[in-house]
Order: sequence, then C-alpha cells, then structure tokens
Amino acid sequence: MREHTLPVHAGAHANPSHALAVPIYQTSTFRFDSAAHGAELAQQTAPTQLYTRWGNPTTHALECAIAELEGAEAALAFASGMGAGSAAVLAAVQSGDHVVAANCLYSGMTDLFENVLARFGVHTTFVDPTDLTALEAAVRAETKLIYVETPANPTLQITDLAAVAELGRNRRILTMADNTWASPWNTRPIALGIDAVVHSATKYLAGHSDVVAGAVAGSRAFVDRVWTMLKVFGACISPHDAFLVHRGIKTLGVRVERHNASAMALARALAADPRVERVYYPGLEDHPGHAVAAEQMRGFGGMLSFELAGGIDAGKRAVERLRLVTHAVSLGGTESLAVHAASTTHGTLSEAARRRAGVSPGLIRVSVGLEDENDLIADFRQALS
Ligand code: PLP
Repeated sequence: MREHTLPVHAGAHANPSHALAVPIYQTSTFRFDSAAHGAELAQQTAPTQLYTRWGNPTTHALECAIAELEGAEAALAFASGMGAGSAAVLAAVQSGDHVVAANCLYSGMTDLFENVLARFGVHTTFVDPTDLTALEAAVRAETKLIYVETPANPTLQITDLAAVAELGRNRRILTMADNTWASPWNTRPIALGIDAVVHSATKYLAGHSDVVAGAVAGSRAFVDRVWTMLKVFGACISPHDAFLVHRGIKTLGVRVERHNASAMALARALAADPRVERVYYPGLEDHPGHAVAAEQMRGFGGMLSFELAGGIDAGKRAVERLRLVTHAVSLGGTESLAVHAASTTHGTLSEAARRRAGVSPGLIRVSVGLEDENDLIADFRQALS
C-alpha cells in the first residue's frame, strides 16, 4: 500500500465482520463453545475472545492498524499513553537493571524512571540524547534499556534515532522511542532500527482530543511480554475508545500533512515577529535538530514553542488573550491549543529544573490544529499586541 492508502486501510483485515467500520464489541466477556474451547483460549497470549482485559476484536483491529503504521510485527493498545509506556518499560527491565533515558521526556515517564522504578531497584541515568558521546558514556554493563522521545517537550529537541539504534545494537541494549509527537506519519522509528515504539494515542493517532489511549509496537516476542504487563496492571483500552482511535487513524495522513504545513507557516510568522525572542520548530533552519529532523522525519510536525521577551507575565498574558486558539494542555487534535509551559506543563518543577528542561519563563507551547493557518497567525498577532 502506498503512503496515503495505508492509514485508510490499516487493520481492515482484522475486522471479523462484514461491516466496513469495525464494530464496537462492547462486551467484557465472550461465550465459550465448550470447556475445551475455553481451556484453549486461556492458554493463548492476547486472545481476542476470552475477556476484554486480555483482548477484544475491536481493540485487536486497532492494534493491527498501529503495527502496520509503525512497520512492527505486533502492537498493543492501552487505556492511556502512560499505561502503554509503563507496561513497555516494565516488560524490558528487572531489579538490578540500569536504564539510560533522555533528560527531556514527558514528565510522567521521568517520574516512572526517577521515582517509581528506583524503589524497585532499577536505576536510571538521564542524559542529553542529542549528545551521542554522553549517551554512550552513560551505558553500563547492567544497562538494559535506552529510552528516548523525539521531538521532545518543550524545545522540540531532536534525537538521532538511527544513531541510538546503532548504539543499542552494538551494546545489546533494547531501544525504545516515544513517537507521540511525530506520529508514524512523520517518523517510523522501527525502520530506523529502534526496537520498540510507545505512543500516547490520545494525540495524533486519535486526533480529535476526545479520547485518552496509548499503544506499544515492536517485535512479536517483545509485545507478548508487554501483554503480560497489560494483563497484570490492567490498563486495557475500552472497545469504544479503541474504535475512536482506529477511526482517527484513517485520516492520519491528511491531518498530519496539514498540521505540518500550518506549523511551518506559523513558525515562520512568529520567527519574523519582533515581539518573539525565539521560535523552536525543527523545520526552521536555525533549530539545532534541523539536519537530523530533515533526515528522519517526513514532515516537521504540528508542535512548536516560542519565547516571549517579558518573561512569565508576558507568557501568561499572551495565552489568556488568544481567542481562536484554546488555552489548554495536550496536543495532536483538530483544534489548536497553547499553554504557558512554566505555569502549566512544567509548573511543578523548580525554577532550576525548568531551566535545565529549556523552559524559559516566557515559553509558550503550541499544538497547531487544522484551522486555516492565516486565522492562527492573526490570533497570535492580536494576542501579542
Ligand atoms: N508521551 C508523550 C510524549 C506525551 O505528550 C504524553 C501526554 O501528554 C504521554 C506520553 C502520556 O500520554 P497519556 O496522557 O495518554 O497517558
């Protein structure tokens, strides 16, 4: 299938009915034909007709779609991106292992590595993932996982996935990438050699800000291990939410192309505005990750950040004055969203930790939606005036 055909038809072969849209199997459990049938299903990994926490036909069709989009052998859907990320990591490490993780991950994942896993004897070294020498220097004999995210919050840091994959291969370490911000339309980490991909499907995969969901994709053997975590920790997606994510995926290509184009236009307009000190967008030639992004991304994505002179007050005032763009966290939906990072997404960090994460007091993060780019540019201009 060519690129625009794939999202439309991904997972279609896993639809067990004659209905064009995958039916929502809104059921917790399934009838057995016989005791032998029940016993056979109970021996399987991820059976789709035993009990919905173990698997479900609607969810399975979504999982096949995500595996196809990511070029993976298999995938699993989850109730949230954090459900997916924590299950994937827990499937990869055990007590005594060491993790090398990027220092710019989604805060929930940083919390998992720094506070939760440390209690169970798994220790993490956080490094700047754009510094390959530092990344390699952080690897120890007991390192079992390298975890990165690209582009990353909030300065759109770009990690060279092929280089990370090579390091993992050479040192026999599993590599995992959170592909939420790029989406499989813009970046396919597995094709670049990364072993496993994690998603907050809440964002571009679902695409309409109306569902919270997650996914993990990778080799069949690894995904089977992740399934044990799904079954035990129980972050299973509801069949209705699985349907919504799968429906969103059908328009992934057209949506993300538009997000890419509008974000580029807004980035250029903001970069030319004297009230804006700096714009972070990997599509701009002055972004430190531009060359790597141009290599590994089909488009530069729908996320950008910019810094205002005037610090925290200017940042807060600007987001409050937006009329069309919604002042809200999250990303990847049809409506454009903006947040003042220092008071919201990074509000619980100390000033020093915020600085380390690249969050200046006036930084505003934007998820560029599907509105006309000229309306978006006009809204930011009036909010800054
Ligand atoms: N990964 C990234 C990059 C995110 O931006 C988020 C949420 O914002 C998550 C993971 C967590 O996903 P969820 O909110 O669906 O649990």
